[in-house]
Amino acid sequence: MQTLVGTPASSGVVRARWAIVREEAAPVGGTITPEAVEAELARVAAARSAAAAQLEAIAARIAAAGHPDEAAIFSAQAEMARDPMLVELTGQRIRERLEDGIAATLAAAEEIAAQLRALPDELLAARAADLTDVGLRIARQLAGRGDEPGPRLEAPVIVVARDIPPSVAATLPRERVLGFALETGSPTAHAAILARAYGIPAVVGVSGLIAALERAAAAAGRPVELAIDGDSGEVVIDPDQPTARRFDQLAAAAARATDRAIAEASLPAVTLDGAEVTLLANIGTPDEAARCVALGARGVGLFRTEFLFLERLTPPSEDEQLAAYRSVVEAFAPHPVTIRLLDVGGDKPIPYLPLEPEANPFLGVRALRLAATRPDLFVTQLRAAYRAATGGPVKVMAPMVADATDVELLLSLAEQARAGLEGEGVERGEVEIGVMLEIPSAILVADTYFGRIAFGSLGTNDLLQYTVAVDRGNRALSRYQDSLHPALLRLVRDAVAAAERAGIELSVCGEMAGDPVAALALVGLGVRKLSMAAGSLPLVRRTVRATRLADLRAAAEASLGEPAASAVRARFQALAAG
Ligand code: PEP
Ligand code: MG
Repeated sequence: MQTLVGTPASSGVVRARWAIVREEAAPVGGTITPEAVEAELARVAAARSAAAAQLEAIAARIAAAGHPDEAAIFSAQAEMARDPMLVELTGQRIRERLEDGIAATLAAAEEIAAQLRALPDELLAARAADLTDVGLRIARQLAGRGDEPGPRLEAPVIVVARDIPPSVAATLPRERVLGFALETGSPTAHAAILARAYGIPAVVGVSGLIAALERAAAAAGRPVELAIDGDSGEVVIDPDQPTARRFDQLAAAAARATDRAIAEASLPAVTLDGAEVTLLANIGTPDEAARCVALGARGVGLFRTEFLFLERLTPPSEDEQLAAYRSVVEAFAPHPVTIRLLDVGGDKPIPYLPLEPEANPFLGVRALRLAATRPDLFVTQLRAAYRAATGGPVKVMAPMVADATDVELLLSLAEQARAGLEGEGVERGEVEIGVMLEIPSAILVADTYFGRIAFGSLGTNDLLQYTVAVDRGNRALSRYQDSLHPALLRLVRDAVAAAERAGIELSVCGEMAGDPVAALALVGLGVRKLSMAAGSLPLVRRTVRATRLADLRAAAEASLGEPAASAVRARFQALAAG
């Protein structure tokens, strides 16, 4: 038995046989004569079209199987195959260096991939692998190997590989993949996204795994098993009896917890004295919708849309956004889906958004503030939202709203989108417009604009960082990062009061809502809508159902005068424990 440790990338535990999926050798390129240049350019153009068509067909197949998120990876690759920069660089190499199509395509793809890898953004760096993969697909076409690449799996196994490019991932027979264990990759790599979408465990970054497995199999002279834990990152080769039992127990406990959560999903989150709380889901991709519905979310309180914008070289089209929004809206109808407008800024380089580097990106041109220079991005997003609203109730909220002037900007963008669709005779539904309350000033002056909007949603992650002036990711300052800080509680109280005065809806969509103890404080302060990651729904529901509103109110009132979050936490912890 040998234990290795990697990075957990998709939750779950499995013990099974394994198969190594190896990378295929790339076709070998060469040179051409000057007379052959034109013909070679035409051959490359045809290969590129064939590769793009193949990728679009894969995307359509996967979308039809109900996995729009994964399908988007292949649509993006189809676009990469036609990317003007790739076309230009390939053409240049053929004309100027007399490289043949294979050599020129592989080199051009690698050149662009190297530029992507150099960007300090993990997601874009991960897209470098997609581009190399596209280059390889075009080269395969040129070499007459245009059929689908990919391994066959004879039995259900844990797939072991150095890395899994999307082209291979697309051809893996789903029902025979029990998990992934990869030597390279990050939790944002495609195999990891895929694993999460399909609910199978994955561990990435397990260095030395393939050699260790081969050594173990050779030494044992029999097939050896592999056990992986997608929550801890533990990978065990040839587990002994006690280890095998431990993994089986973990897998059984996970299955029981899921069964119980699903069995309780239809129960309302109501306190013992009858106060009802609506539990909503936070999602970052359409693929998460089904699990949220199964766990009893009564709508989406926060649909982060950055996934559409970050992993690519060009902005997503209105139709592409519409497809993503509509799939979520249809999954949740008749419950509402709250789409959050793009929240990016100078901390994340985006190739198609020339953002100046800033000394303090979180205090800079972030989120709605981008609308001053790129209103088109937001209008397109709003148009897609209005169109998606034909399938079910849709709300749209803007992040990083500071005051009434920001709200006027948001409303005018929404009006442009609505009027544009109206003028073009495009079918649309109604959309409620609201704001995220995540900057203290937005709460301090709420009375100046609450009458103009339909709802507010407290983004407590940013609200806390801007209230106590502490970077939300800085581990050295953890004492400030408890959302039960009395300063934050006072802002929540003020937001609840302002929403009641204006008669508009108020929810919380920061992580605080998914922390069962903090959720009780929010309910005590008067919040009746809590939006959280799917995994938090079962425990928050159970905790709310075990408490009395009268006790929560009294504890909340007393907490406002506490000197520190720790005292507040102790108070609500006692109520949660019951
Ligand atoms: C928040 O700030 O609380 C929030 C929900 O948004 P994000 O975490 O995406 O910034
Ligand atoms: Mg935020």
